[in-house]
Amino acid sequence: MTQPHTARTVNGSVSHWFAQEGLPEPREPLAGDASADVCIVGGGYTGLWTAYYLKKAVPFLRITVLEQKFCGYGASGRNGGWLYNGIAGRDRYAKKHGHEAAARLQQAMNDTVGEVVRVAADEGIDADIHHGGVLEVACTPAQLARLKAFHEAEVAYGEKERLLFGARDTAARIRVAGAVGGTWTPHGARLHPAKLVTGLAAAVEALGVTIHESTPVTEIKPKHAVTPYGTVRAPYVLRCTEGFTAALKGLRREWLPMNSSMIVTEPIAPELWESIGWEGRETLGDMAHAYMYAQRTADDRIALGGRGVPYRFGSRTDNDGRTQAATIDALREILVRFFPALARTGIDHAWSGVLGVPRDWCATVTLDRSTGLGWAGGYVGSGVATANLAARTLRDLVQQDSGQGTATPLTELPWVNHKVRKWEPEPLRWLGVQGMYAAYRTADRREATSATGTTDPIATWADRVSGR
Ligand SMILES: Cc1cc2nc3c(=O)[nH]c(=O)nc-3n(C[C@H](O)[C@H](O)[C@H](O)COP(=O)(O)OP(=O)(O)OC[C@H]3O[C@@H](n4cnc5c(N)ncnc54)[C@H](O)[C@@H]3O)c2cc1C
Repeated sequence: MTQPHTARTVNGSVSHWFAQEGLPEPREPLAGDASADVCIVGGGYTGLWTAYYLKKAVPFLRITVLEQKFCGYGASGRNGGWLYNGIAGRDRYAKKHGHEAAARLQQAMNDTVGEVVRVAADEGIDADIHHGGVLEVACTPAQLARLKAFHEAEVAYGEKERLLFGARDTAARIRVAGAVGGTWTPHGARLHPAKLVTGLAAAVEALGVTIHESTPVTEIKPKHAVTPYGTVRAPYVLRCTEGFTAALKGLRREWLPMNSSMIVTEPIAPELWESIGWEGRETLGDMAHAYMYAQRTADDRIALGGRGVPYRFGSRTDNDGRTQAATIDALREILVRFFPALARTGIDHAWSGVLGVPRDWCATVTLDRSTGLGWAGGYVGSGVATANLAARTLRDLVQQDSGQGTATPLTELPWVNHKVRKWEPEPLRWLGVQGMYAAYRTADRREATSATGTTDPIATWADRVSGR
């Protein structure tokens, strides 16, 4: 008899990654009004990488990071650990700015994977990084058609090293039941999210950046970040709050906080790994509309994620990372469908987090030169690497604006200073997202029993309506 999520499954507590590592020692909150040259709101990858690169570039800069809970409390301490070269909105940027501009963005993302691996090594951050690439698989004729089209598009964006696999070569890497094809890119690595974010916070602090934790910013306005403990005044205030942005004054309809949930198995025995393969420790994804993502962890578990309840009314975010029992069941069902040998494997932990989705599903990095306000995010679930590119771009934009630098190849990328309209007010926002994911689930079900290699029209309709 299989054991779904039982009393043994921890639910919430931020994430398995932090449960494994232990929550970090708290840093002091802000102790009254203060000033800085740059104030960064949010201690996730975006905020911390930005502090890192700015301080490296201009060591005398006084940089203060304000974090509402602790560094890594958000998606950066909860994600699937896919460090990879995907960036939300590339195709839309190609339509707006041309293929060449979007190809430069893609090249920058390809390079970013290596950049994170390099800096982590230089800074002595041991984040269980394994540079094994990304394998995405197809399990139905429609998924296979999408996989081939995706593969060709990536090659057209310059990924000459990408490989297309049939069923046998896919299985030689990872034996996913029913997989009929796969595409693999070297531009990806597996990592332990909490180890990266806590290591990064320590590295940033060692450089001389001030980090205040347990310090929620209630309002951001030009040259001010307001908190219950005092206000930090700075010529540049950079908002790095991604999925939590809607909670800030005046920003409720900016980026929709979308939930993603994960489960992690108990450590899997070597005999079971023999039937699965996965020796290359690629990150693993699929081509379903309600897609899954997974990694083989350093301690031989599988961490697997996907969409749970996608969105909560009124852009509410969570407190402790708890997810719904039905979501745990759904993710476990995917795990066992992919790897039937794991039917009796226990689930140790389940959790969820929020990511930021702009109305046009395009990631952005912006510095408003008239106010000194900057922000980066809207990564739509592809933020582990993108946050690093955003941070280096914010560094260049601040340096350019303050007269310490000029335009750089990064400041010329098409996602810089991109503007997007707001989301609809409630209840339209809630109804829209629920409808979209119901449509994707229906489309996946219909494609699973269809012999045609075409995407179900319900999914095409959902893409169009949602602005994807
Ligand atoms: C479950 C899950 C799985 C994911 N898997 C992947 C993956 O495998 N690969 C990938 O590329 N991407 C993945 N993502 C997305 C990725 O994790 C995020 O895009 C990325 O971590 C965003 O980093 P960030 O620093 O911009 O935001 P966050 O990590 O969310 O950090 C924002 C920080 O700001 C703080 N904050 C918020 N509001 C305030 C305030 N008012 N005052 C002070 N501080 C504030 C928060 O506490 C938080 O620490 C996943 C996301 C989730 C939720």
